[in-house]
Amino acid sequence: MKSLLLAIPLLLNQCSAVDYVAYWREPPPPVWEQVYEDVRDLSDERHRPGQDWELQVAPGFPSDHLDAVVALYGDAISFWSGAFDFPQTVPLTVMGENDRDWWESVTTQESPPFRDDYNLYDAGWFGRSASKKSIGMVGTDHLGMPHIVTVVGSEVDFGYSGAFSAPLVARHETTHWFQYVATGSMTEKCTDWKMALFLGFFADPDDPRIGDTNGMACPWLSMPCWLSEGHAELYTIPFGLDSETLRSLRIWQIKNRTEDGLLRVLNLTRHNLTTGDQGCTREAMYSVGLLVNEKLFYDFGDERINEFWLAINQPSSSTNPSWEIAFSDTFGISAEDWYETSAIPYLLGVFDD
Ligand SMILES: [Zn+2]
Repeated sequence: MKSLLLAIPLLLNQCSAVDYVAYWREPPPPVWEQVYEDVRDLSDERHRPGQDWELQVAPGFPSDHLDAVVALYGDAISFWSGAFDFPQTVPLTVMGENDRDWWESVTTQESPPFRDDYNLYDAGWFGRSASKKSIGMVGTDHLGMPHIVTVVGSEVDFGYSGAFSAPLVARHETTHWFQYVATGSMTEKCTDWKMALFLGFFADPDDPRIGDTNGMACPWLSMPCWLSEGHAELYTIPFGLDSETLRSLRIWQIKNRTEDGLLRVLNLTRHNLTTGDQGCTREAMYSVGLLVNEKLFYDFGDERINEFWLAINQPSSSTNPSWEIAFSDTFGISAEDWYETSAIPYLLGVFDD
């Protein structure tokens, strides 16, 4: 094991070190095909005990569209009820592209949920340009309760399940809701995590509010960059119209947008880069994240990954993050060892295809 650990830093610093790459490359096994099939099978075969959810709908939202949205979220929520048995009710807000005034009437600037949590205006949620879009987000309120909010444009085609389609957005965002509750969003350690994150990264060291927060106790303050978005993508893309193309798009995003080279990106997504870091880019979170989660699923399977998510809900710190403890406890290998012996060889195999 020692020699492996030494080889990796060399590899990651030398893009042209062909010998190292060859040494590490796995033959491209049908990993992702198998994993995607398994995820789809879960949808058909897993027992679904059911999960309470509550709709908040903008007045005038077309009823046929609402039926379609309800069907999509109903299925996604029920899918996850087969993995987690949570007593909380899922709050789901649904509106159209012209409901900006309504949205502002049911939210406030100061108190959650949400207006400012969601970068709604920047993301182009409202107005004519959003008429064909389906967009969703999940954020937590002052009690740590996650809320799903979605804007479904009046011209959205519900039968389409390609990139950014309504069915895929529903699955992706619903996965986040369960991630939040699994990792303890409603426990005391996490209810003030946004303030803790803000103070940790942006505040003056003398800011008196620093003493008021409980440090880095919430697991989300030190989660690895590849985990939550990649996990949500893994349970979304297999249900797409053409999942191979959707996956290729993710891989293309990494290849196309990583000016400094692929290996540097892989290095960035190692366990120690956390969600608050600037290097944690969208490509790292969604695209590399998807691939890392594919291999995690291939190695350990759905049930143990769900156990892992639940185990993250324990005291955490920047030096001893709960996800790393949960990883070792659940999978019987440290995250660093797994990344080096399984994830990186897999990633290199994918990019060599
Ligand atoms: Zn997401």
